[in-house]
Amino acid sequence: MNYPQKWDLSSVYPSIECKEFQGDLQSLETAIAPLVAQVLALPTESVPGPWEAFFTAWEAQGLLMNQVGVYVNCLASADTEDPRYPALLGNLSSLGAKAAEISIHLRQKLGTMGQTTYESLLANSPKLKEIRFSLDEIRTQAQYMMDGPREKLAADLGVDGITAWGRLYTTLSGKLKVHVMEKSVLVEKSVGQVRTDSAEPTVRKNNFYAADKAWQKIEDSCAGAINAIAGTRLTLYKNQGYHHFLDKPLQDNRLNRTSLEAMWQAVSDRKTMLVPYLQKKARILGLEKLAWYDQVAPLGTGTIDFDSAADLVVQEFSKFSPDMGTFAQQALEKGFVESEDRTGKRPGAYCTKFLSRKEPRVFMTFSGTYDSMSTLAYELGHAYHGFILKDQPIPLQTYVMSTAETASTFAEEIVTDYLIGQAPNPRDRLAMLDKSLADAMIMMMNIHARFLFESEFYTARAKGEVRVDQLNDLMLQAQKTAFLDQLSAYDPRFWVNKLHFYISGLSFYNFPYTFGYLFSTGLFARAKVEGPAFTDTYKKILLATGTMNTEEVIRSTLGEDIGQVDFWNKSLDLIETRVQEFCTLADQM
Ligand SMILES: [Zn+2]
Repeated sequence: MNYPQKWDLSSVYPSIECKEFQGDLQSLETAIAPLVAQVLALPTESVPGPWEAFFTAWEAQGLLMNQVGVYVNCLASADTEDPRYPALLGNLSSLGAKAAEISIHLRQKLGTMGQTTYESLLANSPKLKEIRFSLDEIRTQAQYMMDGPREKLAADLGVDGITAWGRLYTTLSGKLKVHVMEKSVLVEKSVGQVRTDSAEPTVRKNNFYAADKAWQKIEDSCAGAINAIAGTRLTLYKNQGYHHFLDKPLQDNRLNRTSLEAMWQAVSDRKTMLVPYLQKKARILGLEKLAWYDQVAPLGTGTIDFDSAADLVVQEFSKFSPDMGTFAQQALEKGFVESEDRTGKRPGAYCTKFLSRKEPRVFMTFSGTYDSMSTLAYELGHAYHGFILKDQPIPLQTYVMSTAETASTFAEEIVTDYLIGQAPNPRDRLAMLDKSLADAMIMMMNIHARFLFESEFYTARAKGEVRVDQLNDLMLQAQKTAFLDQLSAYDPRFWVNKLHFYISGLSFYNFPYTFGYLFSTGLFARAKVEGPAFTDTYKKILLATGTMNTEEVIRSTLGEDIGQVDFWNKSLDLIETRVQEFCTLADQM
């Protein structure tokens, strides 16, 4: 097939200058004040009428905000040179901050309602009853908040406080320049352009240390920012009634502590399985031991064009589920995927959706590698998750990162498994297995290091400011523990160069990736055994992610308990099989 590589946004709005867009932007601004008045006037007795009216109005505002926001964000990603978009994004984010007042009042209203009144309110309203899960969740969140005026003050101060520290990091890192040798000429690059996935060991090493030298220049400012971000959170947690710094990120992922601990326990117990992989890979690369900067060193360099990659993704999705294949094909044909390799695009990839149009958009830059093809499959996996939920009531279309990452990684795994299976010779097969095991290493070791670091850092931060040398030390220890002391060199300044530690909206940003990776690996193993019958189970899982906590999603669809270490062991078994296969093949080389 011949697919467009530029996405189509014109069906949403012709341009930001057009009447429709300007009108919608205007209505967004004027909608907030009446909504605040409406939520404040909601009755505390069981009278459904005003509540239903409020949710209808609030939903309409949310849909409009989604449409305008996603549209501008898409434009900004695809054209970083145009100065109109960042300005608009700035306006939209302050609109978002103003709109936060609505949810603060809503939480307070719903949260202070007695259980009997709440039950009777739901009993009298089929509309409210249908979105019970979402309302229950708001009531739970309400248990962890200060009074209304203090929450509002905290949100207002956040614009110049915690989020400002995040913005400062973006500015500092965006301006950072690195000098690297290229074909014996010294060239200046931005840090984002310096890569460590070269096949040349010396290029990886030199690039890493050149970038590290640049990052070192801003380490004091970054230490200030990371301390301020964590310090603000700890103060808020204390005043909001959270007992532990993991409570909020767990709540954000609809996950309980036992499940997270069981997952990390299984990872810690079994990660020695990766040691032979690390050793064999080092040997193939001609190294004594792998270093931090060798984590994504490639063993193969196959290429593929976009249309073939897209066809392959559609073909393999279809084998798993015809429905999923058709979905992917239509998304590609309708121009929902921006994949063109051109300058002026933001780095990275994401999936987003226009809720009221029930349309996804995928953003990425297809570079002709198998990694790019995996990214396409991965992002279309996110999009399919949204597609399964698209006819649910809007509040029940929200899912959290832990389950989102399950859907995307599962889709990627479908393609990875095919690539491993169809590799024409042992060398290609080894390269494909390596791609899969490098992911396992990232999820079980690299992300584990981030988790260990953040846990230690938050513990230390509760006692006072954490200095640069202490941060370096915490990071080094976390990496050594997570990698079982198997690397020849580490990255103590990883807390400076990893953007994820500076995302002001979410703390402990990374564990949902390991969750999604391991859960989807287990699901995939099951899909292989159960065959086509599993397709329906998979859809049920995705659908449940909008209406249940993560434990319940899995208990109700698979009858499994993710609080048990053994649940995770089944996924790890599959990874171990791949390690064994990799080692056998490596020994034959
Ligand atoms: Zn994702």
